[in-house]
Amino acid sequence: MRHRIVIVGGGSAGISVAARLRRAGEDDVALVDPAADHYYQPLWTLVGGGAATVERSRRPQSSVVPRGVRWLQDAAVEIDPEARRVVTAGGARLGYDVLVLCPGIEMAWDLVPGLQEAVGTPFAASNYTADLAPKTWELVRRFRGGRAVFAAPGSPIKCPGAPQKAAYLACDHWQRTGALAAAEVTFATGAGGIFGVPEFARVLESVVRRYGIETRFSSELVEVDPAAREAVFETSGPEGKQRQAVPYDLLHVAPPQRAPAFVRESPLAGDSPFGWVPVDRHTLRHVTHPEVFSLGDVCDAPTSKTGAAVRRQAPVVVANVLATLAGRPLPARYDGSAACPFTTARGKVLLAEFDYGLAPKPSIPFVDTTRERTDMWLLKRYGLPAFYWGAMLRGRG
Ligand SMILES: Cc1cc2nc3c(=O)[nH]c(=O)nc-3n(C[C@H](O)[C@H](O)[C@H](O)COP(=O)(O)OP(=O)(O)OC[C@H]3O[C@@H](n4cnc5c(N)ncnc54)[C@H](O)[C@@H]3O)c2cc1C
Repeated sequence: MRHRIVIVGGGSAGISVAARLRRAGEDDVALVDPAADHYYQPLWTLVGGGAATVERSRRPQSSVVPRGVRWLQDAAVEIDPEARRVVTAGGARLGYDVLVLCPGIEMAWDLVPGLQEAVGTPFAASNYTADLAPKTWELVRRFRGGRAVFAAPGSPIKCPGAPQKAAYLACDHWQRTGALAAAEVTFATGAGGIFGVPEFARVLESVVRRYGIETRFSSELVEVDPAAREAVFETSGPEGKQRQAVPYDLLHVAPPQRAPAFVRESPLAGDSPFGWVPVDRHTLRHVTHPEVFSLGDVCDAPTSKTGAAVRRQAPVVVANVLATLAGRPLPARYDGSAACPFTTARGKVLLAEFDYGLAPKPSIPFVDTTRERTDMWLLKRYGLPAFYWGAMLRGRG
């Protein structure tokens, strides 16, 4: 089997690209993805905050694959870029002229001893998977006080703002129930600060103060003891690295993340220990294989791994794929645009939009998005999901 274009991964990126290629008249596009369901993952923050159900984030994959695209419901297990071939778990071999690689990210629970076991207990959860996000809300709802710990790795993860969003929504709920007064809340992250864009970091620091959250930066979760209910952090400072066990009654984790194994083990992976696909940050073309493009969470474009980034990357990839097939120079460039709607309370969002320059880059005219806003909450809760299903996945937005 040979196709002009093979797309591996039918998530936010793969479906957006497939839809745009179809709209451009491409009639030989194959999509490889084993999933029966497609998720709008940004809603999982609201699921963990009790403001949405996980069912709202899910639709059958068959309903989002564009008509005219050949969907192979199978997992890619091997890529041979020299032979220009993708091999699937079911044994199919797909040749391609151009490959679009976007199978997203894998949760690396195994990189932190005890973490997988911990999320199996009634004291720990994560908004990072569809089955655990509802559990976050269960834990938050029944918490009456004690020690709550929210942990995030310093290495790249999808929606790097999501771990602190979980903390803010929990604290907002506990403020209403009175549990916050009886709680010690810690947000610990391997990152060096609350957020990379100073204009938004200032607002987030005031949110942290408002809830009385203790922050620990450059603090990596290195082990969890689920029986003792202790999270062990390694903090880097001027005196070197120090380990400290922090007890918890509630633990929310963003696990470390990496490229799926078949990407990490393929010749298309770069030097990063996480196996990201190295691309030119502007054209999104693979650095050594000109007939391969990559976008979304799996690529190493140095911006926030978000659906907002995918939205800006998809038209660039499509224009550059079509140019490659026509033997023309690449016409489109991605500027690193990404966004992170920080849910700072139920009903309040700080919409952080920025690009490679890490400067605010608001896309909504006449609206001051450097403060927490109710209209941005409505946008996150209702507007963006409608836009995602109705426009972005149809190659229209
Ligand atoms: C809790 C949370 C909150 C978030 N909040 C926001 C937010 O507020 N704003 C925002 O913009 N973004 C947010 N995101 C991030 C956003 O969801 C991702 O950046 C986006 O989905 C990335 O798209 P993708 O296509 O690269 O990956 P995905 O959408 O994850 O899709 C990957 C696809 O690849 C498929 N796949 C996997 N392995 C294989 C294989 N071997 N073969 C073939 N296919 C395979 C999967 O089945 C899946 O369909 C959030 C994510 C999470 C988890």
